[in-house]
Amino acid sequence: MAKVIAIANQKGGVGKTTTAVNLAASLAATKRKVLLIDLDPQGNATMGSGVDKYELPATAYDLLVDDKPLLEVLVKDTSGGYHLVGANADLTAAEVRLMNLFARELRLRNALKEYRNSYDFIFIDCPPSLNMLTVNAMAAADTVLVPMQCEYFALEGLTALVETINQLAAAVNPELKIEGILRTMYDPRNRLANDVSEQLKQHFGDKVYRAVIPRNVRLAEAPSFGAPVMYYDKSSTGAKAYLALAGEMLRRADKRTVTAATSV
Ligand code: ADP
Ligand code: MG
Repeated sequence: MAKVIAIANQKGGVGKTTTAVNLAASLAATKRKVLLIDLDPQGNATMGSGVDKYELPATAYDLLVDDKPLLEVLVKDTSGGYHLVGANADLTAAEVRLMNLFARELRLRNALKEYRNSYDFIFIDCPPSLNMLTVNAMAAADTVLVPMQCEYFALEGLTALVETINQLAAAVNPELKIEGILRTMYDPRNRLANDVSEQLKQHFGDKVYRAVIPRNVRLAEAPSFGAPVMYYDKSSTGAKAYLALAGEMLRRADKRTVTAATSV
């Protein structure tokens, strides 16, 4: 059964989409079955997967608002080897339309229900705001993965986000947990980044991934070639970092399974 992971941070430009695309591709490369749902009307994850957002026959809008089954909105042919539910500007209207629908917070959760057995991982790339789309992502997810830049005030933003996650969890998804906190665009020579990173580890302990994503221009270039970085420049530090993150996630999942099995 798939683990559903929302990639969220209310701040824009922290590496949510970059993480969604490259983590999905890295896990798909290890033969896991992966679905990526683009829930941002900007459609960056869609374009970054080599799918033209202007040519999509159906998008996440159809899934959320029009009750189209997942199979009918799915793009199976992406450059990253995973399945995609795409997004484009149409999704902006979903916000308003959702307001009038029954169980508006649970639309995505219900849409995924039947298909969870078909995947190992389902990632949801969230928009940079806490709107009804993000609420749908949080309600559908088992866990939230938070990418963040280690800069001044980052911890305050993170604390606010964790509070919001807790409130949302209480309202729509009591089982929701933090999957992990990912340091992105990291520059180890920057003292502030190191300080913030240390504080992060003190506050969130082993929730902070050991894998760190460095600032790497290849990661920024890859989307314009419509591909995850591992298929654009596989020897880049960015490609290696996301593969390391995928490995760490898989090891964490194994560890959890063993712990669960031994605790019975
Ligand atoms: P978000 O989805 O949180 O808004 P993005 O993933 O779109 O953030 O990243 C914002 C910008 O920074 C994009 O132009 C992206 O290519 C670039 N970027 C993201 N991660 C890195 C990185 N590790 N190194 C260099 N550039 C990056
Ligand atoms: Mg994004």
